Amino acid sequence: MPGAIQAPVTNSLLASLPRKDYQRLLSGFEPVTLTFGEIIYEPGKPIRHVYFPNNSLVSLLTLADGHLALEVGMVGHEGMVGTPVPLGVNVSAVRALVQGSGTALRMTSARFRKEFHDCQPLQRALYRYIHVLMAQVTQTAACNRFHVVEARLARWLLMTRDRVRANQFRLTQEFLAHMLGVRRVGVTKAASALQKRKLIRYSRGEINILDDKGLEAAACRCYQIVKDVHDRA
Ligand SMILES: [Zn+2]
Repeated sequence: MPGAIQAPVTNSLLASLPRKDYQRLLSGFEPVTLTFGEIIYEPGKPIRHVYFPNNSLVSLLTLADGHLALEVGMVGHEGMVGTPVPLGVNVSAVRALVQGSGTALRMTSARFRKEFHDCQPLQRALYRYIHVLMAQVTQTAACNRFHVVEARLARWLLMTRDRVRANQFRLTQEFLAHMLGVRRVGVTKAASALQKRKLIRYSRGEINILDDKGLEAAACRCYQIVKDVHDRA
């Protein structure tokens, strides 16, 4: 509904646009609430809307053998879900799953293609973002193959922290195991190790990051590598 935006717009990618472009785009957006566990895209299926998360968090998952899912990317307030659309593709290659409930702005793919075509600042912002997202996805491929669960878990918690802008968030072990592509017992062991080092507190599905610097030191280098690409862009 044009002009019906009530939720605060805190998506950093949109907020980085010149005010007049940002204002014009707003009329095409619809505020939505994304709920934990909701699937917004499936591989091979059409992309009907693009999403700009405010405080919600979306996981990009790749499927193997049609059912085994592994996280290859994470999108929060810094980005957009639906990057194939500005590239001229209307079909998703990944599953997009809401990992953190919250608000987002969405626009139909057809309208977004037109806005993208007409708005140079949006083009520049999205080209930079897609570059950062690709760096994240490629680094994650290496990370999943070469790094131990404890370091990957630390990285994952830091990435989540940066995107939800909070040191405390809800998370089940089952979900984490799924995201990291390991068995639940592996997540339990890694989480207890981080807890023993007083870097996090984990109880009743709630994660608290107690020591940011310590957790950064415990994470594999992949965290900093992707963050550097983002900061440079
Ligand atoms: Zn890594």
